[in-house]
Amino acid sequence: MQGEGKEARSRHKRGRVFLVGAGPGASDLITIRGADVLSRADVVIYDNLVSPEMIRLAPPKAELIYAGKRGGAEKSIEQPELNAMLIAHARKGRVVVRLKGGDPFIFGRGGEEAEALARERVEFEVVPGVTSAIAGPAFAGVPLTHREHGSFVAFVTGHEDERKGSSSVPWNELVAAARHTGTIVILMATARMRATLDRIGAAGLPAETPAVAVQWATTAAQVTVSATLATLADASEREGIGAPAVIVVGECAGLREHLKWVERTPLFGRTVVVTRARAAASVFATALRRLGAEVMEFPTIETAPPTSFVALDRAIKRIGTFDWIIFTSAMGVESFVERLKSRGSDIRALGRASIAAIGPATAGCLADYAIRVAAVPDEYRAEEIVSAIGIKRIRGKRFLIPRAEVAREALPEILRDQGAKEVVVAPAYRTVKPKGGQIARMRELIASGKIDLVTFTSSSTVTNFCELIGTSGKGVRAAAIGPITAATAEERGFEVVVRPRTYTIEALAEAIREYFLSPRPLSGEG
Ligand code: SAH
Repeated sequence: MQGEGKEARSRHKRGRVFLVGAGPGASDLITIRGADVLSRADVVIYDNLVSPEMIRLAPPKAELIYAGKRGGAEKSIEQPELNAMLIAHARKGRVVVRLKGGDPFIFGRGGEEAEALARERVEFEVVPGVTSAIAGPAFAGVPLTHREHGSFVAFVTGHEDERKGSSSVPWNELVAAARHTGTIVILMATARMRATLDRIGAAGLPAETPAVAVQWATTAAQVTVSATLATLADASEREGIGAPAVIVVGECAGLREHLKWVERTPLFGRTVVVTRARAAASVFATALRRLGAEVMEFPTIETAPPTSFVALDRAIKRIGTFDWIIFTSAMGVESFVERLKSRGSDIRALGRASIAAIGPATAGCLADYAIRVAAVPDEYRAEEIVSAIGIKRIRGKRFLIPRAEVAREALPEILRDQGAKEVVVAPAYRTVKPKGGQIARMRELIASGKIDLVTFTSSSTVTNFCELIGTSGKGVRAAAIGPITAATAEERGFEVVVRPRTYTIEALAEAIREYFLSPRPLSGEG
């Protein structure tokens, strides 16, 4: 028995390397399998083209190792050392994720890493990714094949220098084949762009063949230039195109004129920061991504159990004595229900109490538990909930408010003023400021003006953001969900440019869309 257990354990402990494609840049262009593997990683070794947003899919305890940029000026790990590292971690029984930009087997030296693993008999799996060779053209509005304009496509490196005798790209043959219906996609294209395009011309491709360059495809920094084989190098230089960029040469590239689309998404080129707690942020972040924004999640609030459950437990014990239970946040609902469960009770214990929610999100959360809400105010404010309940239904009644440990006193005070017999405020959770390594990066992005908008969904997100970053909001544009949040943001120096009429996440996303929709010049030729 013991032996069997041991064997099972060692089988379980056997490490494995996953060569995972992270996609071209946008944090939601990883595959579902890639995200799953990442969420189980013990070690993540990632390259410089991998979105920092994506690395957050790894569990907090995972060891993160930056492999750097090969051939670049930055500090980077040499390939043999990298291979040795993959092998060593796997042999310690760990789940190793080698996260590579785009697809791991397209110009990423993923092939070499896999060879090293195979040689050492380390188990590995490959999770393909969306390569920039495909995503770049797609985001430039260039189909790589087309019934009339392209019947094959070649992915080529632009990095090799023929004169040094090292080029393995058969340019003459490739161009001869591509002349009529082929599409050539060049990666690592910028350093030798002019020489490469000249070489293609010399091999016989007509000077007027359409050609497109796209830099930082799928991110807020995407810039696209369309020209011809003869003019692309000059046009790219004018637009300041540098690495990372993909070039497409061929008749298909001419389709961009009709098919360019990213530039038309409402938040194209915008970087928006979401400061909500991670658990709550995803709906909002997704809504903004859908509008074309690059979203950076920077949670300024996390939730934790309250310092003490005494008040809540006491209230739960006598839950049947309350006439009203008022929830002031979705988190309040979640943590209340959780506690109810863990005390061996269930929602039927709420029995005769009527339920009020401070806003639609909270009401929606209650609805998920099949709890009918008797009162929701039109406006997300403590003062409004009183009129939603109805002044006549307050006098002489007992209220329970399960909510955050520290919250505004307005609601209990108003209820008492209106003659409530009893108001019990029970901390169900506590908001805490997260620690984390993202702070330095955010500080830098804010300082360099790369952030177009910071979104705030409560006053504490404003206060925590400023304290974490260590600056005021001076010179930074902000969106605030409601008037109290807006006032706090203004106090901290932010320029509040987005204020939705209703205080909901949906309305906030819509107001952001409207704000950025005002006409503005597109970058380059657009
Ligand atoms: N394995 C990667 C390619 C690695 S080689 C993939 O499948 O995408 C690095 C080259 O990829 C860069 O020089 C550039 O040509 C291209 N590249 C990567 N990300 C890019 C992006 N977001 N936009 C344009 N080109 C990109």
